[in-house]
Amino acid sequence: MPFAFEKFKETLDNRYSQEDVALIERAFEFAKTAHEGQVRVTGEPYFAHAAAVGTKLAELKLPSEVIAAGVLHDVSEDTQNTIDDIRENFGDDIASMVGAVTKLGKVKYRGEDRYAENLRKMFVAMAEDVRVIFIKFADRMHNMETLYALEEKKRIRIAKEVLEIYAPIANRLGMGEYRGLFEDYAFKYLQPKEYSWTQHLLEERVKKFGPAMERALKNVEFEIRKHGIQDVDLNGRVKHCYSLHKKLLRYKSDISKVYDLVALRIIVKDVPACYAALGILHGLYTPLPGRIKDYIAQPKPNGYQSLHTSVFDEQGSVLEFQIRTHQMHEENEYGVAAHWRYKETGTTTPNERQVHWMEELAQIQKELSTSDFMQHLNELKLDMFSDRIFVFTPRGDVIDLPEQSTPIDLAYAIHSEIGNKAVQTRVNGEIASLDTPLKSGDLCEIIVDRNRKLPNEDWLDFVKTRHAREKIRDALRGTKPGLWSSLMKHVR
Ligand code: MN
Repeated sequence: MPFAFEKFKETLDNRYSQEDVALIERAFEFAKTAHEGQVRVTGEPYFAHAAAVGTKLAELKLPSEVIAAGVLHDVSEDTQNTIDDIRENFGDDIASMVGAVTKLGKVKYRGEDRYAENLRKMFVAMAEDVRVIFIKFADRMHNMETLYALEEKKRIRIAKEVLEIYAPIANRLGMGEYRGLFEDYAFKYLQPKEYSWTQHLLEERVKKFGPAMERALKNVEFEIRKHGIQDVDLNGRVKHCYSLHKKLLRYKSDISKVYDLVALRIIVKDVPACYAALGILHGLYTPLPGRIKDYIAQPKPNGYQSLHTSVFDEQGSVLEFQIRTHQMHEENEYGVAAHWRYKETGTTTPNERQVHWMEELAQIQKELSTSDFMQHLNELKLDMFSDRIFVFTPRGDVIDLPEQSTPIDLAYAIHSEIGNKAVQTRVNGEIASLDTPLKSGDLCEIIVDRNRKLPNEDWLDFVKTRHAREKIRDALRGTKPGLWSSLMKHVR
């Protein structure tokens, strides 16, 4: 057996039951026979790709039927076997996942249109069955690992697509690890010079500060255990290359301002232990003012949770620490994929925000058809990919909105009648104008006039959400026939 399969088998044996492994092996044998004689551009037999995709899905600890579908994902595309053959051998669920992955691969356009079609297809697939996206991610990740084998033009096209479509979607799904790897692979092919320079910087810093970090980790671990906190895991992570590159651009290439180049991680059992560890750490080393971030109390829009702080060590160098629970850690790295597997075992429910986002996605998808997609693309990109803010209502509800949203966006997010009848707003207790850009954490109250019938057309100039814009247009459009017929009455 070739190496690819050995590694696959090992990953499976460590994590899956005998029945699961039996199903996956049956899928693998099916794929191997189907791809018999096919060779990838890298020179490997084709089934090495099937095994690599299966391994990545197993590393995400996804259910066995997702792995089986991943192993079979190219069968109906590249061989004589049809989806019906797969259905006959593996049932409806696996066959429908393979069918969906195959559909995702078929893109007929070029240029801008290609980009739009791709993005739309990803949304469709995601809204219908997010497992299909995990398979597509694993597939694309292995393709990125072997991208060197392709001709230059194809490499650039695939790398661009990964940077513009795959990485942002991975980010929105909270899959930090996939996002980081996608960006780094794309960076390597799109800006090779900048890539190797940034890599070099990273290596230099790790060499220079590695020993000091090692010492700090040992000190912190000793103190934490001394305080009776059990089940602690300490390690370090090096910043992803592309994200360092972006940060350097912001800081005019001054690397001494980038404190999180290497982050030291303290992973503990529960939330109280996180805050206890933060206290112990600050007792040991002086924190840098203004660098403490509590993403546990206020998670990032994509669900990321952790405490961040930067401290001075004995030599006066700055070290960044990230403190989180084991579960937060898994969710930060694997996002929606982690929820998917927790759901299977029933130990926790998915993060509400993630569910909310998936629902929003499904809704947008329902409203879109291919023909008007290009028209909506800009608004859609704004809604989906810009950062989100969280605004509170006086009733204590948290409304998730895109950045720069206004009280009118909030009003329509609550209910279209609140939007249509809005006349005034109070932001954090102060009267404010209806086009005030809101910030995360703002408390915003909408004052309505029950007798008001129609929204103001001028609102269209400043609202940020597609939802508000559509509701305003609907309300204004809805009145036109009424106006027309009342005018007609006068004429008659
Ligand atoms: Mn493939």
